[in-house]
Amino acid sequence: MTAAMDITIRKAETSKLKDINLENLPFGRYFTDHMLEADYENGEWKNVEIKPYQPLLLEPSLASLHYGQAIFEGIKAYKNSDGEAFIFRPQDNFRRFNISAERMQMPAVPEEIFMDGMNKLIALDKNWIPAKFDHSLYIRPFMFSADPVIGVRPSETYKFMIILSPTGPYYSAPMRIYVEEHFVRASPGGVGYAKAAGNYGAAMYATAQAKTKGYDQVLWMDAIEHKYVQECGTMNVFFIIGNKAITPGLEQGTILDGVTRQSSITLLQEMGFIVEERDLGIDEITDAYKSGQLHEVFGTGTAATISLIKELKYKNFEMKFDVEKWKTAPMLKSWLTDIREGRREDKYGWMQKID
Ligand SMILES: *Cc1c(COP(=O)(O)O)cnc(C)c1O
Repeated sequence: MTAAMDITIRKAETSKLKDINLENLPFGRYFTDHMLEADYENGEWKNVEIKPYQPLLLEPSLASLHYGQAIFEGIKAYKNSDGEAFIFRPQDNFRRFNISAERMQMPAVPEEIFMDGMNKLIALDKNWIPAKFDHSLYIRPFMFSADPVIGVRPSETYKFMIILSPTGPYYSAPMRIYVEEHFVRASPGGVGYAKAAGNYGAAMYATAQAKTKGYDQVLWMDAIEHKYVQECGTMNVFFIIGNKAITPGLEQGTILDGVTRQSSITLLQEMGFIVEERDLGIDEITDAYKSGQLHEVFGTGTAATISLIKELKYKNFEMKFDVEKWKTAPMLKSWLTDIREGRREDKYGWMQKID
């Protein structure tokens, strides 16, 4: 493989931006003028191209549609008040992408394609980053197996792509959460730590069941004892108990190593919390609630940043919270938003500038 990857750029003749109302942006519905596409064939990446956003022409026998070798990432780019564009911690997503690739028996994507390609693509569609409070450009890198063969085996060809979608504030109302004791998201030895497309499909039934019971999302429990907290829907989860912030640890490989999770750990420590990454049993949570020590519960993830949890239902026990009185989660959300949009010092070097 050559050291510097050539990226061909073919520009769109006209921009669709004038047809988009940046005041009202449903999440993930609109895409920018360009996309990146690269092919893996004969053991190497080639045809790295930035071109006008367009449909793909695919064979019905496309392996990923049948056996699910498909992974993705979610990253955001922001503009500060001087109009400069930055991506939030993209190197962490790049690393995680190749961890997912390895678990799904897919080839690693080189940094020159993932990082340089993403930078060039965003630089080209920079006008699409909304320069407004809590607005951003959502970046979706993904890879899927591309052999037109339905034999069960790892594909020999793959496609890596990046598409971009402008997004407004992803307001998520405080959530009512159902503690799920039957369905599981991930088990030890499984693919829970990978951002594999199938993890999402596999979670939809349980989520729909919780919705019919009047809840917004499920709190996933461990697959063996159904006792230890894992994640909340597609977000990592934090519990403020006493003067500690507790989030499940990553050792079992059942939890997605969220970039927002890592960032929250750092900022909670800066706020003075003792942060513990460890097993957290549901009994410890109900006990803390009963003794008045369970102060806040929230989810973290790139799409919504921080989502407050106003109710947790475990068996017949309801834990309800007055989120209006909370200090920590709202502060965490505003610190993160302010760092991303340049109003708070980027002490940890999280923001990567786009030239
Ligand atoms: C993507 C994802 C998260 C959040 O990760 P971020 O890097 O913070 O966006 C959490 N849990 C699951 C299952 C995910 O897929």
